[in-house]
This record gives sequence, C-alpha cells and structure tokens, in this order.
Amino acid sequence: MTSVTPVKEALSVNQAPVPETAGSPTAVPTGSWRITAVDTYDIRFPTSRELDGSDAMNPDPDYSAAYVVLRTDAEDGAEGHGFTFTIGRGNDVQVAAIEALRPHLVGRPVDTLCADPGSVSRDLTGDSQLRWLGPEKGVMHMAIGAVVNAVWDLAAKRARKPLWQLLADAEPAWLAGQVDYRYIADALSPAEALALLERGREGAPQRAELLRATGYPGYTTSPGWLGYSDEKLTRLARQAVADGFRQIKLKVGADLNDDIRRCRAARAAVGPDVRIAIDANQRWNVDEAIEWTRALAEFDPYWIEEPTSPDDVLGHAAIRKAVTPVKVATGEHVQNRIIFKQLLQAGAIDVLQLDAARVGGVNENLAILLLAAKYGVPVCPHAGGVGLCELVQHLSMFDYVALSGTTEDRVIEYVDHLHQHFIDPVRIEQGRYAVPTAPGFSAQMRRESIDAYRYPDGTFWAADAAGKEAKA
Ligand SMILES: [Mg+2]
Repeated sequence: MTSVTPVKEALSVNQAPVPETAGSPTAVPTGSWRITAVDTYDIRFPTSRELDGSDAMNPDPDYSAAYVVLRTDAEDGAEGHGFTFTIGRGNDVQVAAIEALRPHLVGRPVDTLCADPGSVSRDLTGDSQLRWLGPEKGVMHMAIGAVVNAVWDLAAKRARKPLWQLLADAEPAWLAGQVDYRYIADALSPAEALALLERGREGAPQRAELLRATGYPGYTTSPGWLGYSDEKLTRLARQAVADGFRQIKLKVGADLNDDIRRCRAARAAVGPDVRIAIDANQRWNVDEAIEWTRALAEFDPYWIEEPTSPDDVLGHAAIRKAVTPVKVATGEHVQNRIIFKQLLQAGAIDVLQLDAARVGGVNENLAILLLAAKYGVPVCPHAGGVGLCELVQHLSMFDYVALSGTTEDRVIEYVDHLHQHFIDPVRIEQGRYAVPTAPGFSAQMRRESIDAYRYPDGTFWAADAAGKEAKA
C-alpha cells in the first residue's frame, strides 16, 4: 500500500491504545475502493489590499489555503477535501509538506480509512523521518491536519451526515479510540475520556434539536482589524450589534494611544452590554502584556487574546493572575494537544481557542475538546482565516451536543470574508451560526474559485501579474 514505513512499532512506549472500529458511525457497505490520488493546490486571496485580517503582528495577510483533495475510485466519485490556513508567502512550503504525505495515502482502502480515521492520523504523525521536522508542530503538523481533516470530510460524506452529527452520533468508545493519548495521559486517561463522552450522550438528542432550531452563538472580528479607520470601526461595530452579535473583537498591540482611542470608540458604539474582546496577536512580553491590558481595563475588555508567545505557558499564567477579571485566551497558534494540556494544568487560560487546521486535524481536536471539558474551560474556536468558520462550527456543535453540553460563555469567531468560495458556506442568523446540514466537513471549495486563485497561475493571479507588467 505504501513504501513508507511508519515508526509506530519503534515508538512503543506510551503507545496509544488500538482504537475500536466497532461502532464506527461511518460503517458503509464494504467496497474495494481506494484512494487513487492526492491533489494539492496553493490557493491565495489578495486580502492584504483591503487590510482585511490586519493585526499588530500580521499587517498584510493574503488569506491562503494549502488545499488537498483525496480522490477515490468509489462509484459515487466521493472525495475528501481539506486544507490548512496560511497568510501568503510560505503557502507553497505548506503545500510541499502535504505532498510529502502522499505515499501514506495513495492505495489506502476507503472503507477502513473512514471506519478509523485515527489510523491514518497515527501513521502520519508516526513517520519517523518527517517527525524530525516537528515533532507534532509547525508546517509538517499542519499538513497532517489538512490531510486528516480531508479524511473526516470523506468519512462524513460517505456517512451522509454533516461532521458534527457524525461525531455526536458516534459510540463513545469509538470516539475515545480516535484520540492519541500519548503525552497527555497524565491529564486525561482513556477511561476519563470515555466517561466524559458517555456523560455527554445524556440529553444529546434534545440539544441537537435545540441546536437545529436556534444555532450556535458567534462573535465577530470584522469591525476590529488594525488597519481600519476609526470611522470604519465605529460603523462596523454598530452594524455588528444590529446584526445580533453580543460580542465583537478588536485588534490591539501596535500603539497604546491608538488602542485607547479605538477601544473608547468601540465601547461607545456597542454600549455597555456587548462584550468586547481584544487581541494582541503575540505582540508583547509578559510584563508589557500586563501593563497594556491594565491600561485598557477601563473599557471592560472581556478577554485578552494571544497576549504573548503561544509557547509561553507560565507567561500566560502570570498574565492571567495579574489582569483578572479580564480573561486570558489563546490557541490559534498553540501547536498541539500537549501545550494545551500544560496551559490547562497551569491554570494559564480562561478561554481555549482551538483551531481546526493548526493542529493534527479532527483527532487531535477531539483530544483538545476532551481536555477542555475535563478542566471546565470554555472553548471559543479561532476562525479568522479562509474556511476556518466553515470547519470549526462542526467541532463546537459536536462539543455542545455530545460533550460539554453547554454553550454558556462559548462563542465561535466569525469573519465575513471569503465564504462565497465554499460550496457549503456558513450561515449566520442573528449573530448565531445556523447548523450545517450538508454531508461532510463544509471544507470543499468551489472549482471556479480554485481555478481563479491558484497561485501563481490561476486566472486572477495571472491577470494581476500581466497588469503589473503592463504598468511597469
Ligand atoms: Mg486572534
């Protein structure tokens, strides 16, 4: 099946338990279908031209996707689509990392893959030579995330369910078997995970019904990009409240006087009852984070996001202690379940912001959701990027229906860019995410968008380069 020899056997210490495939929610009639091709695309959108997505650390992002399609020879033409998010240059490096995983995938039987996505997750993270590039962090790990998410997209499509429902309907023992407990078993044992999932099943049908009727609460970052004028910020903040959002987010961290002025304008625009989160995108040292957050405290910020390096567990703990009652949030650059474990063990965060495509995909996010549930920390996923809203809604909705059982103090980030490029885009109604109903992970991009924004030879980029040449 593959010329690559995974090192699972070599890593026998703390070996993850063999998952059960019995009770798989993806069980479908057995066929002999296989993965026949792994197609990759470097897709970039020119968002930097409007300063959409700009913050103190990333002044000119071009929202990009290193995109992967798992093609099969299944009769119904089923494909798995996945991607990881980057912000422009380097997306080609990310695509190359996905391509390095191809030998693990081509030839794999579709049915066994869908019955146990954890098997491919373990094989990919266990490739000894590629593991050297991490382990379980950075470009290689994000590539694994893209592929693993594509496998789950395929599994959900074959089960004819949206991913959140596939996860919520799954047997707890099967789901618990999808998690790699290596390096986190001191904080979360397989037995504890199983108990949390079994508890989560109680009342799940009623919550699923409520979710379908009312959706899941969202908050919007769209007013608060750092490159926007005060006038645009005020207008968009008012609009957010009119649209039903109960929380907005502002980028901070470049200049304190600007931040004071912008926070004052935002607070005046939304009134005292709408939450304002602030986000420094890792701009500060620990002491600076404390001083700066205190200087903005009069505007009643709900959380300070990414105050410092995502690797600095104890730094976050110190900041949290010093800036309370302002909450501390991080996660979009937290590289794996092990750092999340430490953030929780150290009491370093009030809000956990998992990202669908930063870590190793759905399997690792199951571990992170379970850790958050065990420690009682609310999960408010990161979704600023292309396609991240589409993905994370499934994880939060599963968490509500069949794990934590609550949406209290939980919100999914929403940014109103680039949804038109997806065949099953998110729908926001009165500030809430409507439940996705199409089978899959909502990951699939429109063919015409791929053809236009493929870099550098898609129709948009080719015309752009020709225009620049003409001007020069
Ligand atoms: Mg952020």
